[in-house]
Amino acid sequence: MARFDPVEGLRPALRTLPEYQALEDLEEVAARYGVDPADVIKIDGNENAWGPSPRVIEVLRKLDYHVEWYGDDNQTALRAALAGRLGVPADCVIAGSGSDELIDQIFRMYLGTGDAIVTASPTFGMYAFDASLHGARVVDVPLRDDWTFDEDAMVAAAREAKAVFIPSPNNPTGTLLPVTLVDRLLETGALLVVDEAYIEFADVASLAARAAAEDGLIVLRTLSKWGALAGLRIGYGVMSPAMADLFRRAKQPYNVNAAAEAAAIAAIEDAAVLDERARIVASERERVTRELARLEWIEPVPSQASFVLMKLARGDGRTLRDELRKRGIFTRYFKSSRLRDYLRISIAKPEQNDRVLAAIAQIGEELAHG
Ligand code: PMP
Repeated sequence: MARFDPVEGLRPALRTLPEYQALEDLEEVAARYGVDPADVIKIDGNENAWGPSPRVIEVLRKLDYHVEWYGDDNQTALRAALAGRLGVPADCVIAGSGSDELIDQIFRMYLGTGDAIVTASPTFGMYAFDASLHGARVVDVPLRDDWTFDEDAMVAAAREAKAVFIPSPNNPTGTLLPVTLVDRLLETGALLVVDEAYIEFADVASLAARAAAEDGLIVLRTLSKWGALAGLRIGYGVMSPAMADLFRRAKQPYNVNAAAEAAAIAAIEDAAVLDERARIVASERERVTRELARLEWIEPVPSQASFVLMKLARGDGRTLRDELRKRGIFTRYFKSSRLRDYLRISIAKPEQNDRVLAAIAQIGEELAHG
C-alpha cells in the first residue's frame, strides 16, 4: 500500500492555499541589510512603539499565577475587565488568542464551502486567507479611488453573501466605515463583522455597545495595538449574549493563555496610561501626515488609525521600503498591483517619527537626482 500523501489527502479547498504575507523576521532582515537589530525603527506591523504599560511589565515579571494549571476556560475575570472598559455586559464578550483566532472562529461557525463573504479591498488579509482555509468565496467590492466605499455595490453583494468583513479604521488605508453603511448592511441579513483593531486611535465611537444590543453585528477588538501586547496574542469580540454563548461553546478550551490573560487585565487597569499614548499616536499621525504632504512626491492618505498609507510619485513602494531598510527603518510594502506605488508606515514615538521623516526626505532627494 502507498503511504499517506500529504497533498492528495488535503481537503480540496486547501490545495491552492495562498500564502499569508506575514511580517518578515526582524533579526533576519536586519542581518540581510547589515543593520543592528537594536537600532531598528520597526514600523512595519502597526505595533505599539511604547511597549507594554508599567503594570503589565510588573505582572509579567512576577507571574505568580499557577502556570502548571490550565487557566479559567470561562475567562471570567478577563471578560469582566473588558466589559467594564467597554460599558457592555460581560456575557456579550468573548476572548481569543488574538483577534485573528476570532476571525477564524467566525468562519468555523458560520462559513463553509461555497459560502460567500464580502470585503472591500485593499483590506486586512486575514479575511481572504481564512476564506480560502474554509473553502468560502470572497466577493470583493474594491474601495473607490478616493478610498470610500461603493455603498450600493456593497449592499447588493451583501444580499447574496453570508457575512461582510470590514475593519474600521481600515488597514491599510486608515479610513472609517460610515454608520449609514452599517445600517444598510445589517438590513441585508448578512452577518456584519466590524474589526475595530485600531479604534482607540480614531475620533469616532466604537460600535461595541450596538453589537451587544443588536443581532447580526460582531465587533472585534484587540490588545495588540492599543495595549501593546501583539506578541502575547489577545483579542476579543462583542456581540449579542445569545451569539456570545454560542461562541464560548464552540471555542477551543483554554484558548487565551494565562500570561496573556494576566497581562490583558493589567493593561485594562493601566487604561489611563495607554489612552494617553494612543492620544499621542493620533496627534503624531496628524503631524506626520502634514509633514509627508509637504513633500511634493508624496500623497499621504488621511488616516484615523495608528499608521499612514502614502502614495509615492518617485520610485515605488518596494524601492522606498528597501532604501529605508538600509537605514534601519522597517516599513510595510504590499505586493498587490493597486498598492505598488504605496508604502505604509506605523506611527511610532515622536523622535522616531522625526528620523523616519528625515530619511524619507533624504531618499526623495536621491531618487530625484539619480
Ligand atoms: N484586524 C486588523 C484590521 C489588523 O490590522 C490586525 C493586525 N494586523 C488584526 C486584526 C489582528 O490582530 P490580533 O493581533 O489581535 O490578531
